Order: sequence, then structure tokens, then C-alpha cells
Amino acid sequence: MRKKILAANWKMNMTVGESDAFLDTFLMEVGEEPRVDIVIIPPFTALPRVSERLSDVQNIKLGAQNMHWEKPGAYTGEISSHHLRELFVRYVVLGHSERRNYFSETDAIVNKKVAAALEATLKPIVCIGETLAERDGGRVEKVLEMQLRGSLDGLTAKDLAEIIIAYEPVWAIGTGRTATPEQAQSAHAFIRETLATLWDRATADKVRIQYGGSVKPGNTTDLMRQPDIDGALVGGASLDPRGFAEIVKHTAALSE
Ligand code: PEP
Repeated sequence: MRKKILAANWKMNMTVGESDAFLDTFLMEVGEEPRVDIVIIPPFTALPRVSERLSDVQNIKLGAQNMHWEKPGAYTGEISSHHLRELFVRYVVLGHSERRNYFSETDAIVNKKVAAALEATLKPIVCIGETLAERDGGRVEKVLEMQLRGSLDGLTAKDLAEIIIAYEPVWAIGTGRTATPEQAQSAHAFIRETLATLWDRATADKVRIQYGGSVKPGNTTDLMRQPDIDGALVGGASLDPRGFAEIVKHTAALSE
């Protein structure tokens, strides 16, 4: 049984004050929910405050949206795993499609970041997903396999146990257009099969695969019911504490 994991990716939103207000409401709504893992992923500037607020909350962990692969040094504008560890960050999103599209991140770059994160005992949330043109061209599986091979190159089975994969079809991110539960399940099953081929069945069965792309309270249950969907990476809908709390509650209810 894989425990579901829900992550709130706030992207370039939320000031320190807004993060505080979010947590006031969210913590009241959700409390200590032991049936799902919850990760809050604020912008870098709000990490210290959110870290402080979550220090005595058992089941909600802190994540970062990106990191550089190098140790501290002359990389103006970048953040290293050391900075994240100092703030008790546990997860780091790597290879988000917005990083790939707007900041030219390739699978090779993502691979370096994944290795650096693992070395620092951070859990990478590795994002993969096809564009609409790739889907329409029948290349979904080819693209996913290529991204998995490139992003996870050189990892051992033990490394893989520390990783979360986020399947995020690019055409569904921030568009309001969600993959159907069947489309998402089919991609997730393919990802798991590919991991079993590249590593082994037992390892693949342990990896949690999140779905991301316009997840909201109203579509959560049908998506989270799918056998290979182990949680969600939520963007837009995670900015509303009550909405994200509903997503948590719907997901937790499935484990009853
Ligand atoms: C995301 O940013 O990872 C995402 C899935 O965004 P949204 O939920 O807004 O589509």
C-alpha cells in the first residue's frame, strides 16, 4: 500500500504574510491528518517562515520549488541543497515543466539536480509530462520514457525509493483542462512499467507517482481512486487553503 502524497506548489505566489494567513486557515481545517502525506512548497522567500510554522506539525513537510546542483559557491541567484537543509526542507521539485520551458532545463540538468538532492538527503519530486503536440502525435510513451531515462540516469534501486515522480501533462497545467482519470492512470501505469524495466518490479511498486494538472476539489476523488495514482502535485488550487484542505480530505477519505 503506497501512502498518498499531496503537495502544494505555490509557484511564484504568496508573500510571507500570505503564507502565514494560508497556514492559519489550512492548519485549522486539516489538523494532524495521518492518512496522507502533505507537502507545502512555498517560494524561497517564505521558506523560513513556513518552516518555523510547521516545526511542531507532524504530518506536513516542507518542500522547495527548485535547487542548483552545486555546493555553495559563485552561482549568483541560485540556492543550494545546503540552504534548503538548513531550513528543514525535505522535498524538492525538480524538472517542473515551467523550469523546462522558461529556463531551458533539460533532462541532463534535472539528472544532476536529482543526484545532488539525494546526496543531501532531500527527496526529489521529479516532474515529467508530454506537451499537447506530443500527445496528439501519439508520442506520450516515448516522451515519458525518454524523460525517465534522462532524469533518473545512474540512480540505484535504493535511490529510487527516495524519489517521487510527478506525471504532469503540460497541456493540463494551469489550463483548467485535466487529464481524465483513465488518461492519467494509463500514463501512470506506463511510468511504473518503465521503472520496473529499468530497475525491478519491487522497486517500481514502491515509487509514489503523483498526478499534476488542474487538480481541484471536484476532480480529486476520481483521480486519486486510480490504482497507480499515489497523490497530486497541485498548483493553482493549492493557493486557497480551504480548497487545498478539501483536496486533502477527499484523498484521506479514500483510505478509510
Ligand atoms: C503544477 O504547477 O505543478 C500544477 C499542476 O499546476 P496546476 O494545478 O495549476 O495545473
